[in-house]
Amino acid sequence: MKNIKLSLQTVAQTFKHYDSIKHSYSGTFIDRPLAIILIFLLLPCFLINIFLALVTRRNLFLMQYKTDALNRQVILHTFSCGILLKSAILFDICLGKISFCGIPMTHTFSPSIQFCILNQIKSKAGIFSLYDLHLKTGLTVMSKEQLLEQQLNGNVADYLALIMKSFMSSCLYDRTINKLKKTKILSLFGLKVNNTTMDEAICWITKTNRHKQTSNKTQTNKTQLGFFINVHSINLSISNTEFFKKLSKANALFADGSGMRLAAKKAGFLLRGNNNGTDMLPYLCRRCIESNQSLYFFGASPGVAAKAANNLIVQFPGLDVAGTAHGYNKDNNDEQIIAAINNSGCDVLLVAMGSPVQEQWLLDHRDQLQCKTALAVGGLFDFYSGSISRSPMWLREIGMEWVWRLIQEPINKFFRYVIGNPLFLYRTFILGLVNTGVK
Ligand code: UDP
Repeated sequence: MKNIKLSLQTVAQTFKHYDSIKHSYSGTFIDRPLAIILIFLLLPCFLINIFLALVTRRNLFLMQYKTDALNRQVILHTFSCGILLKSAILFDICLGKISFCGIPMTHTFSPSIQFCILNQIKSKAGIFSLYDLHLKTGLTVMSKEQLLEQQLNGNVADYLALIMKSFMSSCLYDRTINKLKKTKILSLFGLKVNNTTMDEAICWITKTNRHKQTSNKTQTNKTQLGFFINVHSINLSISNTEFFKKLSKANALFADGSGMRLAAKKAGFLLRGNNNGTDMLPYLCRRCIESNQSLYFFGASPGVAAKAANNLIVQFPGLDVAGTAHGYNKDNNDEQIIAAINNSGCDVLLVAMGSPVQEQWLLDHRDQLQCKTALAVGGLFDFYSGSISRSPMWLREIGMEWVWRLIQEPINKFFRYVIGNPLFLYRTFILGLVNTGVK
């Protein structure tokens, strides 16, 4: 009885605004007209497929049996031969069997949530969903229930936007997704990268089986260093072998951003999460509160780290930020900063001075640090202090957050993005450095 009560409470918490979900899903009325337009546009392909099926004496369609997140069976059609085989799904949409956007077919909800939704919402299974979109880009900022709630509450414009975003991300990240390897450590550009989900990355950062350091520390309890590698740091590592060697000395390298996702795909791997520092920080704060660990913020312009700390303490009551220091260390007073960090007794140190300065600083001072873990986190404090705004979710959903940063700082970020991004793609896809690294 207690268990049932608890599970109902969990469902109620999961769907906090459940009553506000519309009982019929907006946008589905455009399914049929849109499918008819697409069928018309794809008619030449369909004629080729029909011709090939006749010549090879095959059935025109094959059936695919799927189950949606509410455990309902869905039968989908694909062409048996020819081109754009999956486009036969447009006929299923025309017949009203499924929607463009709807209940995802990639996972199932728990029975209690299924019961709750089935009784309230008349929504079909969909080839696209907000959950699938976030899964493809590795975003882990919302739970699958929150994503479903947001999706079902959207209006017609949101429905159309979801179709477009899903289509774009399918073209970029999706095609061979089932054939990609998900190994825990993978080699990208000659570097050993940790292929972790956000949760695994947080576990690594906050793992408590390491003893806090003392001044007489040994090799085994050295501060563990975690760096985030993205398009910019890979470009730097290719043109600067010293920086490459520095990255190689980290205890963990986390893959950050859609560029790394594309590169991993080219090398035959699926990244299990988008481990960027900005999405990670709220999770890290929660885990630090749960495990009674403290953070230290070092870097960014004067006042920025302190403001970020204050904002986070308000957002996460109970969070212990043991100290802050800015990153414009003109008097070269590293000794004082290290003493302040060590005296604070912090468990996890975040260093935000941009690449390659932050990685260099951490490697230079690793032996003097007494915290368990130190991370190099780039412009993280600028976001959490409110000095720089985070890109809108729709840009993050299609892996284009960098466009927002370029708009905000066009001069500072010009080389990094306008020159750096095409250079990265050239190095990845034309030179094939993703598999070999610079030899
Ligand atoms: N910064 C610093 N000291 C320096 C140079 C830079 O603290 O000597 C800070 C800067 O104020 C900014 C961060 O380092 O907050 C670097 O941000 P960037 O946008 O380069 O980082 P990203 O997230 O793109 O790696």
